Formats: sequence, C-alpha cells, structure tokens
Amino acid sequence: MSMEQSSIRIKFLGGCGEVGRVGVLIESPKGNKLLLDYGVSLTDEKPLFPESIAPKELCAIFLSHAHLDHSGALPLIYTSRRVPLYTTTLTAKFSRLLIEDMLRLSGYYIPYEMADVKTMMRSVVPVKYGEEIVIAEDICLKVINAGHIPGSAMALLEVGDYTILFTSDFNLIETQLLPPADLGSLDLKRVDMVIMESTYATTEHPERKQCEKLFISSIIEVMEEGGIALVPAFSVGRSQEILCILERYSFGYPITLDGMARVASKILLDHLEFVKDKELLKRALSNARWVMTRGDRRRALKSSGVIVSPAGMLKGGAALYYLQRIYKDRRNAIFLVSYQIPGTPGRYLLETGKFKFNDKEEKVKAKVAWFDFSSHSGRKELLEFASMLGSGVKLILIHGEHEGSKALAEELSELYDLDTYVPRMGEELRVC
Ligand SMILES: [Zn+2]
Ligand SMILES: [Zn+2]
Repeated sequence: MSMEQSSIRIKFLGGCGEVGRVGVLIESPKGNKLLLDYGVSLTDEKPLFPESIAPKELCAIFLSHAHLDHSGALPLIYTSRRVPLYTTTLTAKFSRLLIEDMLRLSGYYIPYEMADVKTMMRSVVPVKYGEEIVIAEDICLKVINAGHIPGSAMALLEVGDYTILFTSDFNLIETQLLPPADLGSLDLKRVDMVIMESTYATTEHPERKQCEKLFISSIIEVMEEGGIALVPAFSVGRSQEILCILERYSFGYPITLDGMARVASKILLDHLEFVKDKELLKRALSNARWVMTRGDRRRALKSSGVIVSPAGMLKGGAALYYLQRIYKDRRNAIFLVSYQIPGTPGRYLLETGKFKFNDKEEKVKAKVAWFDFSSHSGRKELLEFASMLGSGVKLILIHGEHEGSKALAEELSELYDLDTYVPRMGEELRVC
C-alpha cells in the first residue's frame, strides 16, 4: 500500500506540443495510478513512444479511442502485466485492427508482439456512454461520447473530491456519421481541471455543409467527364463518413470500397449503436461495391465511379493500386479528405502535384484537391468549449503544435478567465 499523500499528481508522458503519442498519468491522493491513453507518434518514419511507466504501479487504464496516437503504445503495458483497460467495445475492436496492422506493416522495430495485443484485448472492461464506474477507491470514471470517431469517448474523473475532464480528441461539429460530442451530459461548471486537445488551435474549419456540397459537386464533375475519383480515406471513421455523405446526397454513380476500410466497416455494422443514423450507414455500406477479388478491383477502374480506400495519406494500402492506374488521365481525380501530415506522400502530392512510385517521381495529371472533413473541433469550437467552463478552471492544452497551443492558451485565459497551461513532455503537475 502506498503512502498517504494529500495532492493529486498529473504527469504528461507525451502528446505535449505535438499531435501524437498521448499519455497522461493521474495519481490519486491515495496513490492509485490511472493511465489515460498511451499512443505512438507516426509523423517520423520511426515510431516514437511516450515516456515509459512501470505497469506494476498502474491500477487501471482508460483508452479514449482507437487512433494509434492514443492506443499504439498500450500493448507495451501488457508485455508484463494485465491491467484493466476501460474503453468502449468498439474502441477495443478498432484498436486491435489498427495496432495489428501497424505491427504487420511497420518497417521498424516495435517493442511488443501480437501476443501482447491479445493480452490487452483480454483485459478490456467495456464501458458505455453515460456509465459511471468506480475504478479505484478514490477514482470514479464517467464516459462521455466525444463525437470524434465511432466509439470515441471523453473521461470525466472524480479523483478524491477533484473533478478532471480529459477530452482527448473531440468534435463539436455534427457530421453525417456521428453526433457532436455530448456536452449536454456534462456539468462543465463543476469541473476543476480540463485536459484538452488543441490540434486546430489556430485553424478554423469551413462550414461543414458547404464542404460536403463542394465535395459532391466536384465528384459529379469528374463523373460527367467520364472520370474516376479516388478518395483515399482512413479505414476507421473517415471512409464510412464519406460513404454516408455520398448516400445523403443520393449520389448515383458506382462506389467501390476497398482496403482495410472494409474490415472497419464490417466491425461498425456490428455496433450501429455508435453512429448517428443507423439506416443511413447501412444503406451507404450496402450500396457500395465491396472489393472481394482482383476482378472487382479491375472492374472499379473500367467505368466512371468513386473509389474509397485507405491509406488516407497515401502511405500505402489499396489506394496506391488505384492511384498508379488513374494518375495519367486528366479526367480522373484524387480527392484527399483528411489532414495530410507534412512529409507524407499525400502532402507531397498536394504541394507539388507529383507522386513517387517506387522512387520514380511522376507528374500527376489527374485533378488533386483537399477537402476539410475534420473529426476534430476547429478553433471556433475550442473557443466555444472553453467559454462554457467556470472561471478560474485549470485548462491544460495538449495534442497540438506547441506555438499554436500556447497562443490559444493565452487567448483563452484572457477571454474566459481560465488558468491555462501548455505542459512539456515529462512534466508533472500537482493539485491539492
Ligand atoms: Zn483521434
Ligand atoms: Zn489524436
């Protein structure tokens, strides 16, 4: 049993001044340690991990959602010990899919194995939105829909008599696939500390409906010219969102679904309770042609239509198969639908109009465009969220580029009288 202490310690293991490798360690006054997310950073070629921790000291883990920048380091914990992992059923399944895919495809050494991922899966304690669970003598967890990707959640923690909200990645913008984050089930004025993402600290998103309409009209234009529109999209969330948008606007041309997006879609079909409009998603998925054979792939290229396939930043996956076959024709298009990290092939294509196929750089003649279908709150929504907090609340900004987070922190503290802070990796805060 650990020594009694009167303060709460919060240690930032990663995700500080960067979008990646999130990890926050909370130690309660009675010495119970809870880990919030434990992800990798994939912006460098080599995966980067958060600061290490001793698994034997942990009493529980909360995982907000499946993205690898939140889940990718978790199996490390399970190389030595089974710690209860509180998360939604869907997040557990998506995490397994993404982590195993990373293990298979990584050209770099990853310090855990498939067996550790299995141990992690066996340690899952499924939680539902709205559910309150006592996870340690002086820690209570309430899980709230974060509106970011299917299954994503915020954690509202009662640590002793101190209330901490860990937003993780959240979206206040309603999309076709998901409702916005469920702030209605939170009494934000009661929260003492908020640990908030700040990915888009300095960037506004365009109005969602406008973005959808522009996307649809751009695709129709390609179809009318007899072209093919390739939409490289992340397998979890974005692919299904794109299919839902096409369905919502009664798109009349063939739609092909390929790559890991098929597996993710199949998982989601078993968990329709996590989406906004079950019928819309079911229709969208049944109207798409799921690639099963090589023949299906060739067929997708024979006539005008849309192809939705990972990888979202063209780093690999079936999207490359199609890209190689459509880039020379001006009638075709490559429509990117997620943020393109600098240094990725997708970003390079956007900036230069060129693509490297096996080290040979080619000019892409097909149209290239980017559409802002973000699953994160933009600057406006982050401000809106902060405005709902009580004055004097401690607001910690993580998961954002350092300068941008700092600027937003200063602005928020002036606007709403908040005690804002942008921590550095490895830093520890104490509150009484
Ligand atoms: Zn995320
Ligand atoms: Zn993230």
